[in-house]
Amino acid sequence: MSSRHEFQAEVKQLLDLMIHSLYSHKEVFLRELVSNASDALDRRRFEGLTNEEVATDAELVIRLEPNRAERTLTIHDNGIGMSRDEVVENLGTIARSGTKEFVKAAKAAQDGGPDLIGQFGVGFYSSFMVADEVTVVTRRAGEERGTRWSSTADGSYEIGDADRDSAGTSIVLKLKEASEDEGLEDFADEYALRRVIKKYSDFVSYPIKMEVTRTRPGENEGDAPTIETNDEQLNSQTAIWARPKDEVTAEEHEQFYRHIAHDWSAPASHVSLRIEGTFEAQGLLYIPSQAPFDLYHPEMKRGIQLYVRRVFIMDEAKELAPSWLRFVKGVVDAQDLDLNVSREMLQQSRQIRAIRKQIVKKILDELQRLLKDEREKYTELWGHFGPVVKEGLLQGDEKDQGRILDITLAPSTKEASTTLAEYVERMPEGQEAIYYLVGPNLDAVKRSPHLEAFAAKGYEVLFFTDNIDEIWLERAPSFQEKKFVSIGHGEVDLDAGADETEKAEKEEARKSQEKELSGLLTKLRAHLQEDVKEVRLSTRLTSSPVCLVGDEGDMSPQLEKLMGQLGKEVPKVKRILELNPDHAVTSRLQTMFAENEGDDRLEDYAHLLYGQAVLAEGGQLPDPARFGNLVAKLMTT
Ligand code: ADP
Ligand code: MG
Repeated sequence: MSSRHEFQAEVKQLLDLMIHSLYSHKEVFLRELVSNASDALDRRRFEGLTNEEVATDAELVIRLEPNRAERTLTIHDNGIGMSRDEVVENLGTIARSGTKEFVKAAKAAQDGGPDLIGQFGVGFYSSFMVADEVTVVTRRAGEERGTRWSSTADGSYEIGDADRDSAGTSIVLKLKEASEDEGLEDFADEYALRRVIKKYSDFVSYPIKMEVTRTRPGENEGDAPTIETNDEQLNSQTAIWARPKDEVTAEEHEQFYRHIAHDWSAPASHVSLRIEGTFEAQGLLYIPSQAPFDLYHPEMKRGIQLYVRRVFIMDEAKELAPSWLRFVKGVVDAQDLDLNVSREMLQQSRQIRAIRKQIVKKILDELQRLLKDEREKYTELWGHFGPVVKEGLLQGDEKDQGRILDITLAPSTKEASTTLAEYVERMPEGQEAIYYLVGPNLDAVKRSPHLEAFAAKGYEVLFFTDNIDEIWLERAPSFQEKKFVSIGHGEVDLDAGADETEKAEKEEARKSQEKELSGLLTKLRAHLQEDVKEVRLSTRLTSSPVCLVGDEGDMSPQLEKLMGQLGKEVPKVKRILELNPDHAVTSRLQTMFAENEGDDRLEDYAHLLYGQAVLAEGGQLPDPARFGNLVAKLMTT
């Protein structure tokens, strides 16, 4: 006996949207139906544990049955099935909040916009995107009779009794004509089905099977072709994140990593994620061994995929990790999220926030472990990803920042690579700050004249050469209560720890030098006023005659360049030329100046000194030709 029923008003609206949408990912209907089947199998397995009538010996399986001639696609499962009441309840009314929200959002956006369905997914009703008529034949496990439900989405559905041999559900879709214009693939086609299952349902924990018929040409010419029909499994079913972590082999990790990351080199390391309690999530994260080519591209493909109960939801779940961990690849499978979760919902989800926190913690733990146990490997990884991780020193919270400083590596005047803790450990008595020098590359900073006084004093200086370095160092918190001090900025006071009389003596000597040389300094300043804002005596030089330093708080040339690259207007910052009072060049100039204040050579020498200071730090001369001429002139007089 069958009878006709009206859909609830909201279902009607939903079906209308579904049918008339120009949505391009119509394939998601299969994801929805497979996930419903998988849920039904879960329930059967679970209820079967305590209820013999529901239990079964048969293999729990999802089966696709396409029929090209009839243009149908049937999705079978031997799960829990539905009673007649359940069918009415589940397939005739909207109970799900996701669907309600979808209708609301779709109405607000007038014609919905093509991506709305993709964002929300919409469960069972999405079958009407690809089918004109949908028939459900189902039998509740433990019950004798089956139920048939069918609808052409015309505002009503028909319901009646049905014969069905065993418990489970079959959904028969009468497929619409395939049409490229409407983005409608032929879902009776074996390869389309294979592709869609692989994409969304590869890790569903039940086998998804399909009978596949192949025609092979006969062995010898003239032989009749042979026709073979085989059952094939379409999904790999191996959700390795759900398995006990010691059981997964390195080889399996490698394969899985390849599958999700499309990276042919093996990952450097993996981290498994397990959240239990008020909500559950599992995951598997990988630190690649190479940096992807687009690591600094604003549109870089992020690498953490979101699954909900083994069903693929989205590829780049940006909400799962901060951008300073954007190189991390992997999968997060959340138990309690709605399949229809949208990006907007992710941003507001407390669960996602909690997962993200765990991910940050776990990855930092792992990096720390690598630093401790596998220093060489870690050093290489830091080379690839350090510049990105350091972005966290600007974005992360205080705790993250502290942890990032703990794992930061840098070369120094003493070591090819050192941690900050090791640096502090080596600090000699009297050294109070962490000294660093920022520059465009290692060669330039290593040769920098700024280092001389520090070398003389036995103070180690750290080198930072990544674009991001100057920005975080400027705002750097302290490390183990030691402040970061740039040796290329401001005045340096290396005698802070020295005893008072010694300090006073030095101060005295400096004052008298300043007095003696003040005329010369004024003269040089006048000649170089276009290039520098000040010429003064240096306390940081021992063997070089000159160097350039930034004023306290001024931008360095690297930062200026970086801002320029970012398209930011930056006023040219003039720097300070420091002269070594004890250098022979200074004495020579002083003599020249004392003999004749108006000596023409003083102007040439001023420019030569400035050029030398620029070159010493790996910079570019403002006027190389002029510099060349001056050198030639010098050599010929
Ligand atoms: P959701 O899966 O989010 O609950 P759907 O629209 O996909 O929403 O499905 C609605 C309901 O219909 C499900 O909650 C379930 O109770 C029932 N249902 C759908 N497909 C099946 C199936 N294959 N076997 C048993 N019940 C099903
Ligand atoms: Mg569903």
